Amino acid sequence: MSDSSPDFATLSLAPELLSNLDSLGYHAMTPIQAESLPPMLAGRDVIARAKTGSGKTAAFGLALLSRLSVADFRVQGLVLCPTRELADQVAGEIRRLARSLPNVKVLTLCGGAPLGPQLASLEHGAHIVVGTPGRVEEHLRKGSLALGALETLVLDEADRMLDMGFQAAMEAIIAATPADRQMLLFSATYAEGIRPIAERLMRKPVNVEVAEPH
Ligand code: ADP
Ligand code: MG
Repeated sequence: MSDSSPDFATLSLAPELLSNLDSLGYHAMTPIQAESLPPMLAGRDVIARAKTGSGKTAAFGLALLSRLSVADFRVQGLVLCPTRELADQVAGEIRRLARSLPNVKVLTLCGGAPLGPQLASLEHGAHIVVGTPGRVEEHLRKGSLALGALETLVLDEADRMLDMGFQAAMEAIIAATPADRQMLLFSATYAEGIRPIAERLMRKPVNVEVAEPH
C-alpha cells in the first residue's frame, strides 16, 4: 500500500469501527474502498467493480455496519452471494469488522444447509443476513424472513449470480425490499446482464471502477 493511500479515519465511521480496523491491520483503504465508501456512506446506490482480492467485502461491510441500529433486531442488511463458500467468507469478514460493536448478529442462509436451524436462528432475529438467492427466497416465501426494515441490499458477485441462473430469485428478493433501501452492486467483471436490473431498480447509482493495471 503506497503512502498516498487514504486512511479510513478520513471517513465518518464510528470510532469503534476505526480502532477495530486498525487492530485488523487495515491501516489504509484499498483503491475500491477509497472510491466506493464515500458515496455509500452518503447513502447513494453504488455499482462497484474491482478485481478479486481488492477488498470489496470490507467496503460494503463497513457501509452496512455504519447504518445499523443494534437495538433493532429486524434484518437491516442483506448480502446475496453466488455460493455458500462465498457467503461464509463474507459473513466471517463482516463479523470481524463488527467485533468492536456490541452484539451485532450476522446470520448465513444458504442452500445445502438444513432449514431447521435457520428457522430457529431467524426467530431470534438478526441484523445482517448473508445468503444465496435460492435459500433467501425460500425463507421469504415461507414467511420466516421479513425484509420490511431493510436498509441496505448488497449483490456481491452479481455477475456470477446471473451466470448461475439466480436472476428470478434475485428479482423476487429485491421486490420484497422497501423501495427506499440502499442498493449496492459489487462484481469483479463487467456484468452486462445486470444492467437492465440496475437501471430498473437502482436509484441514480454511482459507478466506481478500479481498472486492472496492464
Ligand atoms: P474481494 O471481495 O474484492 O475479492 P476480499 O474482500 O475478499 O476481496 O478481500 C481480500 C483480502 O484483503 C482479505 O483477506 C481482506 O481481509 C483483505 N483486506 C481488505 N481490506 C483491506 C485493507 N484495507 N487493508 C488490508 N487488507 C485488507
Ligand atoms: Mg468478494
